[in-house]
Amino acid sequence: MTSPFNADLHSHSTVSDGTLTPEELAARAKTNGVALWALTDHDEIGGQARAAAAARALGMDYLTGVEISVSFLHQTVHIVGLGFDADNAALVSGLRQTRGGREQRAREMADSLAKVGIQGAFEGALKYAGNHDLISRTHFARFLVETGVCRDTHEVFRKYLTEGKPGFVEHRWAKLKDAVAWITQAGGLAVIAHPARYKFSANEEFALFTEFKGHGGRAVEVVTGSHTPAEYISYADTAREFGLAASRGSDFHSPDESHTEIGTLPPLPAGLTPVWELLADRIQVTARLSLGAAALATH
Ligand code: AMP
Ligand code: MN
Ligand code: MN
Ligand code: MN
Repeated sequence: MTSPFNADLHSHSTVSDGTLTPEELAARAKTNGVALWALTDHDEIGGQARAAAAARALGMDYLTGVEISVSFLHQTVHIVGLGFDADNAALVSGLRQTRGGREQRAREMADSLAKVGIQGAFEGALKYAGNHDLISRTHFARFLVETGVCRDTHEVFRKYLTEGKPGFVEHRWAKLKDAVAWITQAGGLAVIAHPARYKFSANEEFALFTEFKGHGGRAVEVVTGSHTPAEYISYADTAREFGLAASRGSDFHSPDESHTEIGTLPPLPAGLTPVWELLADRIQVTARLSLGAAALATH
């Protein structure tokens, strides 16, 4: 059955490379009719308590979330974790380790940009990074737009910061096996983020899904802001083929930059297991003022 349920399980705040605070994002999700939300900042769960509290205050259900950067077959793959215990020591330390190399990488990116005449990019990007540990390509992109080098962040990624272009620095992120283990051992569920974005051959993609599943990964993003409608269909097939549940998330970063508004994606295609069904006991359900709750309160 097609689920009309409005779950948005992929979004970013100022804790990583989004432009809205966790509270502003929660309010925007609520306005757009989101019933179940997850904040999934890159490699960082420092915003989880704020996001959960904001969701609770707005009467919106919440799942803890993170998006972990992984290196797999010389590409960066993102693994979303949902419904984990945010105090889990192994997860916290694994994420700290994953964030560790970002400053050095950012300095090398700035050196590479300086060679094509773009000066001061490290300091420029850092100004946009609310969380200095999480300086990312997105912050460089904002600096290049601010200084008039490019019209928008999408043009930046086309001309700079991607493989083969000035400003790109290869980086070693977490291992797929470790990222899945951190999430799973913290009681959460691992999801392959936006699979259509990777430039894998069919064999490499098969290896990603096979290894992910072998390590205990359980789901794949089918409906995401990064996929076309045709890709919803093809990754629905992949989910069925690999016995994975399906997730849905906008990957919203910013009102000015994101094509896909939080909470506005179409529902999952029919015949899939929604990931939130596997996470029913991990959802932080907000107290709703109902007859049942009122009756309970009088006892
Ligand atoms: P990083 O983790 O520093 O490598 O930065 C990755 C982030 O850059 C992603 O999470 C996106 O927010 C952003 N990004 C990557 N590719 C693009 C693109 N083609 N257009 C816009 N944003 C992108
Ligand atoms: Mn991002
Ligand atoms: Mn991603
Ligand atoms: Mn993302």
